[in-house]
Amino acid sequence: TAYGFRTVDETEKQGLVNTVFHRVAKRYDVMNDLMSAGLHRVWKDAMISWLAPSKRPGYRALDVAGGTGDIAFRIVEASRRMADVTVLDINGSMLEVGRERAEKKGIADNLTFVEANAEELPFEDNSFDAYTIAFGIRNVPHIDRALSEAFRVLRPGGRFLCLEFSEVDMPILDKVYENWSFHAIPRIGQAVTGDGEPYRYLIESIRKFPNQQNFGAMITNAGFSRVTWRNYSGGIATLHSGWKI
Ligand code: SAM
Repeated sequence: TAYGFRTVDETEKQGLVNTVFHRVAKRYDVMNDLMSAGLHRVWKDAMISWLAPSKRPGYRALDVAGGTGDIAFRIVEASRRMADVTVLDINGSMLEVGRERAEKKGIADNLTFVEANAEELPFEDNSFDAYTIAFGIRNVPHIDRALSEAFRVLRPGGRFLCLEFSEVDMPILDKVYENWSFHAIPRIGQAVTGDGEPYRYLIESIRKFPNQQNFGAMITNAGFSRVTWRNYSGGIATLHSGWKI
């Protein structure tokens, strides 16, 4: 099949990822709740508390692979609607859903939506106080390019935070998780969108993603200091933090 477990090259990978998110955009939010059994909300809330965005005017955050806006909206709320947040995504269909949601929440004035690639950010050096990316970096073909772009656009003293699926380090939970990923997730995908194959591909990309330690080393290599991480739900999700000094 088009999404089988063979290796795909980088251009092809981005094409597959784009097809998946274009197709699923309108049902993305409900899908997230089903596939993570609601846990993604807990992990995202934890990300925002670790970020602790400033409540002073002028605070600027960039949420890359921001999709339908979950992280950006939380930053705006946590800043008491002071922050200016840019939601960047390669997929216009996801951003469109995000824009509609922002209007409904009445926070559109705090947000800017930009269609672009995480590997080539259309911003000047040193422009943001914070860079966030949630469940996005795994989809980017050249992770090292995305990380060095993150470093470039952050101001000195700026904060990098990345939430991503990672290596489960708890016995029993790892088996439950594996079963859930390989059987339940493609079935939910099939039931909701009529096609389970893209989800098999996404699950495979989780398995291929570097573990906590190795991903931490990549962040350090991109230039970040004081790189640390926290595991959630036994490592199903991990939040990496770094600083541009
Ligand atoms: N951050 C949102 C969240 O946590 O709900 C959305 C995450 S969604 C799983 C992954 C997003 O990454 C999709 O919206 C997809 O379009 C975006 N994406 C994939 N490749 C990208 C790239 N190279 N540059 C920017 N965004 C990309």
